[in-house]
Amino acid sequence: MSEKPLKAYKVDVESHDAFSCIVFATNSASARRAGASELDACWEDVELCRRAPAYDHYAPGPVPNDVLLEDGWWFECHGCTNTVRADGTRVEDGSLIECGKYIVRAQEVFCTQACLARHDASKRMNVAAQAALIELVETKFPGSKIDSVYVYGDKLEASETGLGALSIAYFTFPGAQGLAEYRFGDGAYVSRMDLELFESRYCAA
Ligand SMILES: [Zn+2]
Repeated sequence: MSEKPLKAYKVDVESHDAFSCIVFATNSASARRAGASELDACWEDVELCRRAPAYDHYAPGPVPNDVLLEDGWWFECHGCTNTVRADGTRVEDGSLIECGKYIVRAQEVFCTQACLARHDASKRMNVAAQAALIELVETKFPGSKIDSVYVYGDKLEASETGLGALSIAYFTFPGAQGLAEYRFGDGAYVSRMDLELFESRYCAA
């Protein structure tokens, strides 16, 4: 018994903005379900689900984004969120700037080579900032173990009052029952049950 072949379907959802994707499925109902999940929408949001035979030969997918761009689809630039089209990049204020050349890297679409370079540089800086935060916490609190770190943006920044922490590390220390937090530019937050232990270990004169 042979399996049913996968066929291409174009799924459109209607939310605050219209989005589409191509999915591969054996029937329309599963295509609708797959499309909704890929577009982060619910079943009821799916406006249209149509066969798209022109893409059948890309099964099981995905259809390369540069193929879709050349077919008139638009994407959000992975670096700057401007709208990328094959014939140009539409900037936020609605004016159309002439396209250098869009760049497709795996499933990421960038408006220009420069934007991709900026994106990669800021990603590298973010990774470096995370490493610096880990080192800072491990130095400040000897014996501590980092659970996870979050750095928003590309450098360590103290949070402004009223806003969430921009650079934060979650860690444990010997004997602690819960996770402690270190907010860059602010200080350590330790749960009540671990407070005494934390103070005797790290705050003793
Ligand atoms: Zn861009």
